[in-house]
Amino acid sequence: MSVTVVGSGLAGTLMALYLAREGHSTELYERRPDMRVVPQPAGRSINLALSARGLYALEEVGLKEQVLKQALPMRGRMMHDVSGKLTFAPYGQAHEHINSISRAYLNEVLMDAAQTAGVKIRFNQRCTGMDFETGQTFFEDQDSQEQYAINTQPVIGADGAGSALRRSLVQRVRVNYHQDYLAHGYKELTIPPGPDGDFQMDPGALHIWPRRSFMLIALPNPDKTFTCTLFLAFEGDQNNQTNSPGFDQLTSSESVQAFFESHFPDVIPLMPDLLTEFSQNPTGALATIHAAPWHGLTTQAQLLLIGDAAHAIVPFFGQGMNAAFEDCTLLMRELKNQAGQPDWASVFKQFYQARKPDADAIAALALENFIEMRDQVADPSFLVRKQVSLRLENQYPELFIPKYSLVSFHRVPYSVAVRHGELQTALLNQLCKGVSSVDEINWQQAEQLMQKFRAEAPALSEA
Ligand SMILES: Cc1cc2nc3c(=O)[nH]c(=O)nc-3n(C[C@H](O)[C@H](O)[C@H](O)COP(=O)(O)OP(=O)(O)OC[C@H]3O[C@@H](n4cnc5c(N)ncnc54)[C@H](O)[C@@H]3O)c2cc1C
Repeated sequence: MSVTVVGSGLAGTLMALYLAREGHSTELYERRPDMRVVPQPAGRSINLALSARGLYALEEVGLKEQVLKQALPMRGRMMHDVSGKLTFAPYGQAHEHINSISRAYLNEVLMDAAQTAGVKIRFNQRCTGMDFETGQTFFEDQDSQEQYAINTQPVIGADGAGSALRRSLVQRVRVNYHQDYLAHGYKELTIPPGPDGDFQMDPGALHIWPRRSFMLIALPNPDKTFTCTLFLAFEGDQNNQTNSPGFDQLTSSESVQAFFESHFPDVIPLMPDLLTEFSQNPTGALATIHAAPWHGLTTQAQLLLIGDAAHAIVPFFGQGMNAAFEDCTLLMRELKNQAGQPDWASVFKQFYQARKPDADAIAALALENFIEMRDQVADPSFLVRKQVSLRLENQYPELFIPKYSLVSFHRVPYSVAVRHGELQTALLNQLCKGVSSVDEINWQQAEQLMQKFRAEAPALSEA
């Protein structure tokens, strides 16, 4: 029996690799040409933050070391204020960091490994949907325009946020679906190497220019460039009353130049191609996708969605790919729990039921982190709370792990990280009240608050 995976992006290729390694004959259908041969058009994020959940999956398929060789560790956030002053806030303890990795490189490594493991990748094959009564999955060959159907089960849909398979699924009765667009869009820009050929900023950090209703971020690349992303409302406040500019107001070179001069003056000398890139690079939209369930099971069809196809989220926690990779890990574990020939329908159901609360949790955390990144990181009290959190982690390492760390450096279920985060906020609100530096913290009070925390916090066991 052959497993069909649709979409050879990050999740689909990893899933196919996992399956092939376990001896499942696997075919992967991809709409686009082979990215290793034909360069991809701009429009997707160029680099990504890879953290514990993604690394765990890569380790399981034997690719972690290879991938990490091309990654750049980012130990914390480097905040740039309007005057150009820099403030560094570590993400976690001294040994903890997230990793900047090229999307294209990662995808290519996965494709090479999947093919080596026996996966057949069929490029230029666009899936157009599925018929749940007949079990047919429909495709169009992008070269010949020929349309055809296959009838093999099961099918795993990893065809991304605009999933054609999800479109077929949500037409069925009792499938809930909604898509929440953010009012903000994003545009990618580049900081090239300096005249000496080296990085123009510290490559050991994720740089942020937080400006309350909008922000710019930058992640380093091995070629000494930074990929910057401007997150800004599509439509600004036309009366300029609220300091909420928008892409709709940046329609001329003069307006873009003036916007950067007033909000990101330290970036201008670093970005010689700002005006050209700003006019040429696309402005992307961001959305959270909620679908329930992610599976379509009939007597003829067995479909499961994974990754962005099932639960696309906004990118502010750097978790979309990490969550998609964790989907693959957990689905594989569910599959291995079954002895003999897998009952795919029950595997898909169990996976969905266990995973859905965590997908909802990371969707909410990602939206929340947008506010933190663009607004709160500039606040001195935020930095004090961060320092207090890391101290508490040192003192109570089994119990108090800051929410950011639980999500990025650990693999506890996202829903457990949310609950810990709520209790941490309540504790820090009391402990940091009226405090302007870590030295002013009353550590006896901390001990009392930790007793309450211990009683209420769910166990921290990893997935
Ligand atoms: C600006 C931005 C920054 C991000 N930063 C991070 C980050 O730092 N860390 C992180 O973890 N995540 C990040 N993400 C999220 C991450 O990009 C996604 O979560 C991840 O790509 C999901 O992988 P996927 O395989 O599910 O989908 P995709 O990567 O979108 O892959 C889908 C694949 O399916 C193919 N396909 C689509 N439709 C069809 C069809 N009809 N038929 C056949 N094939 C099809 C596509 O061509 C593609 O190859 C970011 C996202 C954005 C937009």
